[in-house]
Amino acid sequence: RAKGKGGNDYAFYTEEMNSTVVEHLSLKNQLHKALEQEELVLHYQPQIDIESERIIGFEALLRWQHPSRGLIAPAQFIPLAEQTGQIVPITHWVIKTACQQHAAWRDAGHGEVRMAVNISGRSFRDPSLVEVIANAVHAAKMDAAYLELELTETFLIDNPEQTLQLLKQLKSLGVRIAIDDFGIGYSSLNYLKQFTVDGLKVDKIFVMGLPHDGSDSNIVRAIIAMGKSLQLRVTAEGVETLEQLAFLREEGCDAFQGYYFSRPIDAEASTSLLAQR
Ligand code: C2E
Ligand code: MG
Ligand code: MG
Ligand code: MG
Repeated sequence: RAKGKGGNDYAFYTEEMNSTVVEHLSLKNQLHKALEQEELVLHYQPQIDIESERIIGFEALLRWQHPSRGLIAPAQFIPLAEQTGQIVPITHWVIKTACQQHAAWRDAGHGEVRMAVNISGRSFRDPSLVEVIANAVHAAKMDAAYLELELTETFLIDNPEQTLQLLKQLKSLGVRIAIDDFGIGYSSLNYLKQFTVDGLKVDKIFVMGLPHDGSDSNIVRAIIAMGKSLQLRVTAEGVETLEQLAFLREEGCDAFQGYYFSRPIDAEASTSLLAQR
């Protein structure tokens, strides 16, 4: 880097930082309108049973169809929504919409697939969460066993007492619980013993290195073995290549999702995908 450009670099950098702050502020301000203006949309990524290669479910993934910026990824607005508390009504919308979509698949003759929904930090402390889920499942006339909640490790640790109570309530509704991004959080194995979970999702950061990276391979092998011995369904996320899939199959992983099979797709495409298979 040329010395003479130092000042410019700095000015440029500052501007860039400012514009990030401004962007966050304006997204934050627009976020509360996003719901009422129906700018939020769910896409669905198929989850495949490794043995039968059948679609066993879909994960609902949130996008914001912004009027001027196009489709915004969840990583860009969910943290903001967590800060403002908007995540609570957003999560309610996600749960309702996902259950309605499940009913649409069922009405098209494909009811035997699971719907996975992500629930993040603040929503887990939402006192109406259980009721909202119960109502959404009821309104969709859906068997609750087809609804799976994906929770991340962090908030299982945050408040173990309260979490245990909530998980018990959720389990009594009949929904399934999976631990998302397994391996990158606190990785305390204690809660797997304490909490009744049904599945683990191996984070894509480990899947990425398969099969060549020795430590990634060992970690994934260990997670699968542990999941099996605890009788948890193990799903690998972020599978992009046949080689990765072959490794996972060899190690006895139960299910996978990833670009190798399909990217997240919109509601219409998800229904046609089910019809094709
Ligand atoms: P996640 O739940 O771990 O979801 C998996 C992410 O990996 C998704 O990103 C998905 O599009 C991406 N992915 C899937 N297959 C591949 C692959 O083969 N390669 C690569 N590189 N990526 C792949 P997305 O949709 O951008 O979502 C990011 C995160 O945002 C999610 O991670 C989840 O934590 C959060 N999120 C998404 N939707 C919701 C929601 O409705 N509510 C909440 N609270 N969080 C959500
Ligand atoms: Mg997830
Ligand atoms: Mg994940
Ligand atoms: Mg993730």
